[in-house]
Amino acid sequence: MKEKCAVFGFQSDTDVFETIYYGLHAMQHRGQESAGIATCNDKIRIHKGMGLVSEVFRNAYLSGNCGIGHVRYSTTGDSKSENAQPLLINYLKGVFAIAHNGNIVNQEGLKKMIEEMGGTFTTTTDTELIAHLIAQEHLKTGDFIKAVQATMKQLVGSYSLAILYDGMVIGVRDPSGVRPLCIGRKGEHHYLASESCALDTVGAELLRDVKPGEIVVFGDQMKSYSGPKGRLCHCMFEYVYFARADSVIDGRPIYKVRRDLGRILARESPVEADIVCAVPDSGITHAIGYANGSGIPYSEAFMKNRYVGRTFILPDQKQRELGVRVKMNPIRSEVEGKRIVLLDDSIVRGTTLKKIIESLRKSGAKEVHVRIASPPIRNPCLYGIDMQTSGEFIASEKSVEEIGKTIGADTLAYLSVDGLVEAIGHSRGDLCLACLTGEYPLENPQRKLVDE
Ligand code: SF4
Repeated sequence: MKEKCAVFGFQSDTDVFETIYYGLHAMQHRGQESAGIATCNDKIRIHKGMGLVSEVFRNAYLSGNCGIGHVRYSTTGDSKSENAQPLLINYLKGVFAIAHNGNIVNQEGLKKMIEEMGGTFTTTTDTELIAHLIAQEHLKTGDFIKAVQATMKQLVGSYSLAILYDGMVIGVRDPSGVRPLCIGRKGEHHYLASESCALDTVGAELLRDVKPGEIVVFGDQMKSYSGPKGRLCHCMFEYVYFARADSVIDGRPIYKVRRDLGRILARESPVEADIVCAVPDSGITHAIGYANGSGIPYSEAFMKNRYVGRTFILPDQKQRELGVRVKMNPIRSEVEGKRIVLLDDSIVRGTTLKKIIESLRKSGAKEVHVRIASPPIRNPCLYGIDMQTSGEFIASEKSVEEIGKTIGADTLAYLSVDGLVEAIGHSRGDLCLACLTGEYPLENPQRKLVDE
């Protein structure tokens, strides 16, 4: 599973390029396919391309005292350079740049409407659709913020937006607050970021989250406008896996939530064992929580090769079978003869976990008890996370016991939905749990969840 995107924005009285670069760099985990920055003083300038932030901006610099940036892993649309963001939109009333994290559920109907009115699309992203709607509403109302408000009323789905318009940075969060978006401050200046870890990196303090349904505008000072209201549904997987552990989202420190997920899992599914260990890196914080909760010592069981890049492609099946060992190798002295509790954040197909368990047994592990710090994933995500179709989730076809047998675990247990909700600390009704429960709160465009 891959997170789709991150946005960053900054308004200052000096050039903002370097700050946006480092802000995006801190959020590289949210998208590695393309990166882009748009800045503005007299006019908007954009540099973007395919690759990591450090690759795309190797010899680039843009002047301008306000700007936005984006890293992307394709949500809708293909992985190609035309779809890299920010997008630049020229229309009769002017020009703006826009960057988006999320996924619009009712995009097909809206795209058809735009095309019937003579509009054309040059990318396959839903971000261009949002841009078309804003431009169209701006032509009608003559007021950019009113145009954004009117656009929000038409959209169903998840969207955290950074917009650069007329020397201002504008942040927009969907009424359900599915994806994170926060505001930072240093001195007089304001920052916009998908995650607070980016604010820490650029030396800004976290002021607050952008409220669900809120529009914030950074100009000479920060202004806030209300958009439509809707049912809250924060993505539970931001807490379990996607966000960086040093971020704080909607008042919840991610590291603490992950430790609590492990601690509650130890309470729900105890087992006698000698050590608690993690699938690195995704299960480490959960494993520390499980160790704290169970009193069983935490130990590193694997050494990870940190130089296996994202472009490391194993050309044939035989080499692919080597894949897990190339990426991580068990530490025999730690695992030999031991009863192990192995923590991970989730199971998608279970193929990697099966190989990891095999490698532990080959290194002499006596027992391997797998504990998963979230409930079984059975359904795809419609709100901005790249997931498989239902048929590819092992949990949509097999019982927990069958999955345990398939991956070769002595025992397997998942965290309960109640345990997940307790650890995150939001009420159950304020969370999206659709990939676990199949109940899609923003699925049906006909079912209006946004108050008019
Ligand atoms: S379906 Fe799952 S991954 Fe997608 S927004 Fe909801 S909780 Fe997050």
